[in-house]
Order: sequence, then structure tokens, then C-alpha cells
Amino acid sequence: MNVLVINCGSSSLKFQLINSDTEAVLAKGLCERIGIDGRLTYQPAGGEKEVNELAMPTHTEAIQFVIDALTNEKTGVVKSLDEIGAVGHRLVHGGEKFASSVVITEEVKKAVEECNDLAPLHNPANLIGVNACEKLMPGTPMVAVFDTAFHQTMPEKAYMYGLPYEYYEKYKVRRYGFHGTSHSFVSKRAAELVGVPYDQTKTIVCHLGNGASVSAVLNGKSVDTSMGLTPLEGLVMGTRSGDIDPAILEFIAKKENLDIEGLMNMLNKKSGVFGLSNNLSSDFRDLLEASEAGNGPAKIAIEVFCYRVAKYVGAYVAAMNGVDNIVFTAGIGENSVPVREKVCSYFGYLGVTIDKEANAKRGEEIVISTPDSKVKVLVIPTNEELAIARETVALI
Ligand code: ADP
Repeated sequence: MNVLVINCGSSSLKFQLINSDTEAVLAKGLCERIGIDGRLTYQPAGGEKEVNELAMPTHTEAIQFVIDALTNEKTGVVKSLDEIGAVGHRLVHGGEKFASSVVITEEVKKAVEECNDLAPLHNPANLIGVNACEKLMPGTPMVAVFDTAFHQTMPEKAYMYGLPYEYYEKYKVRRYGFHGTSHSFVSKRAAELVGVPYDQTKTIVCHLGNGASVSAVLNGKSVDTSMGLTPLEGLVMGTRSGDIDPAILEFIAKKENLDIEGLMNMLNKKSGVFGLSNNLSSDFRDLLEASEAGNGPAKIAIEVFCYRVAKYVGAYVAAMNGVDNIVFTAGIGENSVPVREKVCSYFGYLGVTIDKEANAKRGEEIVISTPDSKVKVLVIPTNEELAIARETVALI
């Protein structure tokens, strides 16, 4: 069966058409500037990438262009919509309502809407994508795969904040965690690669991309993760601060005359390695290059990033009373040799030793620890689209 995987944001929409039998990507692309003007990037497998400026006043036009591209006589990959068996939607926040993926019904949409407060930038946009697909592909089953669902197995002690309990009762203020599809996919794959049943492993996944999070996966279940109520908590990220002393907010607000919006903008967009590097870049390729050329702030940004990752891994070793596998994934985790080396340099106490030659590889599935290392360290490219396609097929 062919599954259309949709990741819909407020002004953009990423898609992949995946054949679930062969797990091959038949075509992929991106709609951008929806509601502004509109641009479709489309690439069939083995074919040329096309970019077309197309008017997309709403997501409905955007999805219509995606369907047109997929069914185009010359560059399309299917003859008609009948060859698309299901749609898998990435939804960001399922709150406490969704601990797994679900087939989308009116009731499900209502429940997702009730979580909008928790992800005001993402959930409404995700739902717009669902509605547009329903309109254009009536009768095609749709599945929702939540970023938060995998972490719903966390125990109370991991998800409760040291805040007045009434905020949990009234507003469901708690840790939810994100990147769940990736943490689940990668931890499962790690167990397969090391040949140990998933429900008998202690794995720590370091998902290091522009957004970054670490999770502790004990016997196949997430028991803790670094992102919180929102994706702002935890690691130092591309432009997000991660953990800080909350009192800094009052201090900076007074000094810089900032309101809540100004503070949130600073924490989400101007901080992280971007802010630390004195606004040089949020991209690790730039930072590593600058650091090698002797740029002080770039060097500090990399040091702080790696140290924070190492501290979270240490915390999760404690949470699980040990660890069997440490896995690196996402843009930085899959590609940055020096970041992996630096993070692992903190794990001597765990008996981790890294094979430098293996660690020099990029973007491929590989064990980078030596055979005698007490803990296995792996690089596993994440594939959230494939994970969504698998979930979708499993549910319908
Ligand atoms: P997201 O999905 O959160 O946007 P990705 O997982 O795509 O992020 O990761 C993007 C980041 O990966 C980039 O910002 C960049 O820092 C990093 N990255 C990609 N390729 C490399 C590379 N070869 N070396 C170092 N970092 C890289």
C-alpha cells in the first residue's frame, strides 16, 4: 500500500509518499509560503527536483498541488488517488489523551483541538492539514501519529514539575516530551542491531538536530525525556535555550524592558548555540568551522552543547540504573563526528570506548564503540516519515 505522510505547519507542509511493502520513498517534497504566495518543491524517486511557484492561499490548494504532482502524467508516481491507501499525519501534541497513534475520527479531532493550548503554534496547523486532506481525499483513512505519544509511559516522578499541584490538575502542566516518533524508531532499531529483545534493553537516545532531546528508554518504554511541557526545555539547541534558571527571566525582563512575548522570543529564537556563539550561526557545520579557525564564542557554544548532552545522559543512566546502548541520531547526531567524540569523552566512567575509525563515518547506521566497550554506542539515522507510514499501516 502507498501511504502519504504529511507534516503540516502553519505556512509549510512536508510530504512523502511511501510504499509500505518495500518501504521505498516514491516521491517527496515541500509546500512553502502557504497563505503568502506559495512554492511547491517536488521530487520523484530517481527523478529531478522541481520547484514551482504556485498560488496557495490555504492548505487546501497546497495539498491539491501535492496530489496533482503525485498523479502528474509525466513526473507523477501514481496513476490516481486510488493508489494512495492511507494518509499518516504527524501531530505535535496529544497531551494526556493520546498514548499511541490513532485512526482520525471527528472525536479524535475534537480531542486534539482540546490540546491546542499546549501547542498553539503547531496543533491548529496540523489539524488544518488533516481537514484539507479529508476534503480532497474523501474516504481515504487518516491516521494521527503524535510527537508526544511515546513518552506517555513516563512515571509521575519524571513528568511532574515542582510547581503547585493545582496547575497540573487545572491545566495539565507537566512534562510531555517530543520527538517521540524518532526516539521510538531509533531505540527499537538499536535493540535489533545489537540483537537484544527491545523489552530487555536500557537505551539512551540523543536526538540532536536543530531541535534536540535526549530520552531514557527502559525495556522499550520511555521513562524520561529532556523536553517538557513544550520543546523549549532540556538541551541547548540551535536557537532554543534549553534549561535555565527561571529567575533569569525576571532579571533580563527588567534590564532589557522585555514583556513575556519578548522573553519567549529570546528563549526560542535568539538563544541556544546561536546566541552563545554571539549570533554567528545555529548550524553546527558553521560553528565547527569557526571553532577550528579559532572563534572563541563558537568553541564555547559547542562545548556547552556537548556538556549538556553528557549531563542528560548521566542523569538517565541514574534513572535506569545503568545503560546498554547510547544512540546518536538526527542532523548533528548522524553527521557531526567531533560532537559525538566530545560527548562520549564524558563517558569513561561507564566504560565507553569509541572506535575512531567507525566514528569518522557519517549518516549511516553503525556501532561506533569498540567491541570491548561496556556500553554500545551507535549512530542510527532517524526516519520519522517511515515510522509514521508503519504506524499508519499497522492501524488501518
Ligand atoms: P531539525 O529536523 O530539528 O530541523 P535536523 O535533524 O535536520 O534538524 O538537523 C539539522 C542540523 O544538523 C543542522 O542545523 C546542522 O547543525 C546539523 N548538521 C547537518 N549536517 C551536518 C554535518 N555534516 N556536520 C555537522 N552538523 C550537521
